[in-house]
Amino acid sequence: MTDLHRLSIRELAEGLSQAKFSSRELTEHYLQRIAKLDSQVKSYVTVTPEQALAEADAADAVLKAGNATALTGIPLAHKDIFCTKGIKTTAGSRILDNFISPYDATVVEKTKAAGLVTLGKVNMDEFAMGSTSESSYVGATSNPWALDRVPGGSSGGSAAAVAADLAPFATGTDTGGSIRQPASFCGLTGLKPTYGRVSRFGIIAYASSLDQAGPMARSAEDCAYLMNVIAGHDAKDSTSVKKEVDDYIANLNGTSVKGLRIGIPKQYFNVVGLDADVKARVEESLKKLEEMGATLLEIDLNMTEAYVPTYYLIAPAEASSNLSRYDGVRYGHRCENPADLMDLYKRSRSEGFGPEVQRRILIGTYALSAGYYDAYYVKAQKVRRLIQQDFLKAFENVDVIAAPSAPTTAYKIGANLSPTEMYLGDIYTLAVNLAGLPAINAPVGFDKDSLPVGLQLIGNYWSESQLLSIVHQYQQNTDFHTQRAAIAEENA
Ligand code: GLN
Repeated sequence: MTDLHRLSIRELAEGLSQAKFSSRELTEHYLQRIAKLDSQVKSYVTVTPEQALAEADAADAVLKAGNATALTGIPLAHKDIFCTKGIKTTAGSRILDNFISPYDATVVEKTKAAGLVTLGKVNMDEFAMGSTSESSYVGATSNPWALDRVPGGSSGGSAAAVAADLAPFATGTDTGGSIRQPASFCGLTGLKPTYGRVSRFGIIAYASSLDQAGPMARSAEDCAYLMNVIAGHDAKDSTSVKKEVDDYIANLNGTSVKGLRIGIPKQYFNVVGLDADVKARVEESLKKLEEMGATLLEIDLNMTEAYVPTYYLIAPAEASSNLSRYDGVRYGHRCENPADLMDLYKRSRSEGFGPEVQRRILIGTYALSAGYYDAYYVKAQKVRRLIQQDFLKAFENVDVIAAPSAPTTAYKIGANLSPTEMYLGDIYTLAVNLAGLPAINAPVGFDKDSLPVGLQLIGNYWSESQLLSIVHQYQQNTDFHTQRAAIAEENA
């Protein structure tokens, strides 16, 4: 079979359970595609063929014995921020170049327990700080739709691997947009769950009060399969919530688009820098949802201007604290011939961290320092609460809120945006993390350069099922999610 990479997760599950193909055949197929095509996309940091084939053989035995789960034998890729026992976990940083975790992240443990096969670890911005995946110490990943463009970030490797059909789906993490924005840039569906829905245990920490893991795939249905595996309480993550997990697959048609109230924030569509094509495609998608029975209501989100400054204080503050553990002593990069302990700390960290990470450590440390703590960090926390309240007020009158996922489509690799320009590109995604809400990106068309455009739907707390269901129904009526980049059309 040459076109196994064209199958959806449901079709893969059916094919495996009906023994139309084996997990070994499927895994070999993906490994061949990676070997042939990933030199162009550069989505993988580490490919693990031996382990993948061993897992595939084990899955085939389980399938034969009739003990399979819905996903037994299906391959996936993990963002290189999830700790994987025995396999390097770099978080895109030189400082972790030699780091092999002694344990699996809970998300990885769960995908293994479900019988999923790990193809390898995919690229990302260093410590998930960025929107292009260019800050990875291994180098940039390409956008499969245009190889001279970025795939977005920080989960750019996950997005590029799926968009090039080098993995059927992948895990990502989202601290301020890192699932939704690369999904948008690469024409995929990506879900950022409610804070606390998915365990953060074993995920290399960036900003702990904002970090959340989620699925990146072609369709809402494919995302639902992965959510069914990774969601849930975990005693090892004190911020994960003890709350029953929905059956996301069973609920795919559970929300009626008829009568659904979609809020359109006035402030979002007047943002300077919102590309005309992005605006047009998003408005067309909302029109489509209206045709399907939804009601569009203009709403106010008055705190919009505060999103970028608030996030870019809180996230670096938490990062500066989280990243203090990389000191060259216990693990990670250590400089050569340190003169004394201070020299060891300084040089190990200067050599190990790239410029964007260093910038954020500086900003964060400054914002947390004794003289400035109240003026910056405490104030940002207060504004964060106002941003959350703004959303809760909006949800009194609407069921979901619609926005672009990003103001532009994918830009050129090496465009070398200034930090402020790059941060402003996160305007539509950051507030969701500050408020801890769930949100989804769905592909809704293309711009004049044939680059994908994404619609973001933001839901109230724990509305993952609803978001997946709305996008699933939209995808039953449109075909943007089935369109493929040229490189994905190539056979291995
Ligand atoms: N682009 C944002 C940042 O640089 C968000 C990154 C993320 O979600 N990990 O922090």
